[in-house]
Amino acid sequence: MLLGGRELLHGVVPATLAGALGELPGEIRFSLPLAGRTTIGVGGRADCLIAPQTIDSMVGAIQLCRRHKVRHMLLGAGSNLLFSDQGYRGVLISTERLMGSVIDGETVNVSCGEPLAALLFAVGRVGVRTLDFLVGIPGRLGGAIAMNAGIPAQSIGDIVQRVTVLSPRGEVQSIGVEECRFVYRGSAIRNERLPVLSAQLCLSGGTFDRDALLAERRTRQPLAARSAGSTFKNPPGLFAGRLIEEAGLKGFRVGMAKVSEQHANFIVNLGGAQSAEISEIIDIVRQKVYKRFRILLELEIEVVDQ
Ligand SMILES: Cc1cc2nc3c(=O)[nH]c(=O)nc-3n(C[C@H](O)[C@H](O)[C@H](O)COP(=O)(O)OP(=O)(O)OC[C@H]3O[C@@H](n4cnc5c(N)ncnc54)[C@H](O)[C@@H]3O)c2cc1C
Repeated sequence: MLLGGRELLHGVVPATLAGALGELPGEIRFSLPLAGRTTIGVGGRADCLIAPQTIDSMVGAIQLCRRHKVRHMLLGAGSNLLFSDQGYRGVLISTERLMGSVIDGETVNVSCGEPLAALLFAVGRVGVRTLDFLVGIPGRLGGAIAMNAGIPAQSIGDIVQRVTVLSPRGEVQSIGVEECRFVYRGSAIRNERLPVLSAQLCLSGGTFDRDALLAERRTRQPLAARSAGSTFKNPPGLFAGRLIEEAGLKGFRVGMAKVSEQHANFIVNLGGAQSAEISEIIDIVRQKVYKRFRILLELEIEVVDQ
């Protein structure tokens, strides 16, 4: 197909871009089903997914997409994302191969693709318990920073010292915590779509009871089912799950998607759910909660358009 003089072999990805991405160290796939790339297990196919082998090739992939003006997006563990049944038109840049962390005194330098569980294991081996508040959050470092992941007592933004990002002008920059502008489940990094390459976290501070936190998760959250975690942010001073429950929506089902009986802020995929079914539940929940409490729930999960 020719569009604006460009030959498009893979959705919106021109053949020249596909070729150049393919030259970078890493793995490249085309027309890849997204269901296996997200914890909720839905979504059509992505035009292209590249998993760079090195930070340099990640930077190269982003620069190439920017130069070709092709839509692209960073993908961590996919634990906060709802892709459409029509898939993703553009290039997903997965950080799955960019793992690792190095402890340096009171800090740890972490690569963007490091799973939080691996980070906790690495610091736990040297007796550090200050990151244990992240236990059970199934993300990778870059996604956790973009989302300012955490629990009510603490979020990752509270322990970030510096973040290395790729600026819109294409420079690798180290930014301080103020520039990250962390807020409850968000940051300037997410709003401005700044790619996180790595970050330096502080290892000193308060500790957490890891076993108690895990036990609480196991009793309160539907961990055996596929989900994207909390669907909505908690409104100030309130709990989204309680509002949904009081609106009578616990167990509400559309097709193979359902409001969890265990935790009403989780929507679970019972097996083979469509993204559209999950979106329908989201719309109905928002309408019913608004009608009952005059509170408009704000999404915590990110809905990614085709
Ligand atoms: C069972 C379950 C429990 C959960 N519990 C919690 C919880 O207690 N607290 C909490 O905060 N969250 C929770 N979550 C949600 C989710 O795990 C977090 O938001 C997590 O930090 C997302 O990380 P990720 O790597 O999966 O990001 P993804 O879902 O892959 O991406 C999320 C966003 O981050 C961006 N992103 C990814 N990598 C980068 C990068 N390198 N640079 C810049 N942007 C990037 C993506 O483009 C996207 O906008 C839970 C999810 C599940 C499924």
